[in-house]
Amino acid sequence: MTNNATLFAGGLVFDGINAPVDGQAVLVQDGLISKVGPAAEFDGFAGARVDTAGATLMPGLIDCHIHICHGAEANPSENLEKLSHSGIGIRAMEHARRTLEGGIVAVRDCGGKDYIDLDVRDALNAGRFPGPVMRASGRMICMTGGHGNRWGLVADGVDEVIKSVRSNVHKGVDVIKIMATGGVMTPGVNPEDAHYTAEEMAAGISEARRFNKRTASHAQGAEGILNAVRGGIHSIEHGIFMDSECIAKMIERCVFLVPTLAAVKNILLNRDKGIPSWAVEKSERVYEVHLDAFKRYIAAGGRVAMGTDAGTPFNLHGANAWELAYMVEAGMPPLDALVAGTSNAAELVEPGDRGVVRAGAAADFLLVPGNPVDDIHAAADRTRHLAVIKGGQTVSGSVQAIAA
Ligand SMILES: [Zn+2]
Repeated sequence: MTNNATLFAGGLVFDGINAPVDGQAVLVQDGLISKVGPAAEFDGFAGARVDTAGATLMPGLIDCHIHICHGAEANPSENLEKLSHSGIGIRAMEHARRTLEGGIVAVRDCGGKDYIDLDVRDALNAGRFPGPVMRASGRMICMTGGHGNRWGLVADGVDEVIKSVRSNVHKGVDVIKIMATGGVMTPGVNPEDAHYTAEEMAAGISEARRFNKRTASHAQGAEGILNAVRGGIHSIEHGIFMDSECIAKMIERCVFLVPTLAAVKNILLNRDKGIPSWAVEKSERVYEVHLDAFKRYIAAGGRVAMGTDAGTPFNLHGANAWELAYMVEAGMPPLDALVAGTSNAAELVEPGDRGVVRAGAAADFLLVPGNPVDDIHAAADRTRHLAVIKGGQTVSGSVQAIAA
């Protein structure tokens, strides 16, 4: 054992997949997990030790749906219009730092402005600024007048959709975000309505797949969800009006749902604080429907990856972990919510070897008090986090390392 090794032992370990277990120790070296095993196997270890007694060491959380350029004001789009590119970029770095300090070690941005999100991604992934590992979609692809048209690439017809995908691939996106339906945060569109036709969706998705890009679809109404799923989408974002056919097809095709319960929830919690009335009205219309669809989806065995839509009104960067509690409030067993926020999210976002505690994975941890399966707020409420660790370094909170 070399001197820069640190052993985390004494408490529970949640590996991102199975229920937390006692008696395991995790050895970290050079930013990576080098060994996980029964504590007794580390008897005589000569490096630094962190006593995790009374706590759970778990993978840092992963948020599959954020908007790093958006500021979570009452009307984020209006504010974005007022800022220069450099202003947006500087602010995005603040959002990134807060996100990491909130226990989120990797994110997928689902729509930025003018590809600023790609510059932010590159700076974060190069370690030039504190923040999570990032994957990004660049400009979302949407139809004329469709949801997202203020920042997206507007494309109509199969040929234009394909061209937009190629344009985003050329810019260097990690994922293609394509809008299947209307949404809450664009005035004048209905979440229930399908936007792209089945042919346009299928063409865009298959073009993305030709370049080995993941695809995510903002999809709220049932028809649009089915268009995306039949076209081969990897993840359905929001999924508000999922009916039994949508649910069956998503499960059959192993599509992830990224529910983003925090988006509508935060609009309703802050409805008197200047949020545009059309956004509040649509949120009121969809809230219960969304929770009901989510319940039916998880009861049927659908796969969920955690995402928040952080950056939308009062959906703060850094408060992302609350989504764990919202999913549990909506009926999801706490262990499943923790899996959705760690290993499942990693499977969708592909942020390197993260979202799990196993040898070879990044030493990106969240240390929470007690057992989060018994009390999800231990992981959901950042004020209760004991420490956030990225690449073996403590970035928030503190750990009591006892030098050898
Ligand atoms: Zn979004």
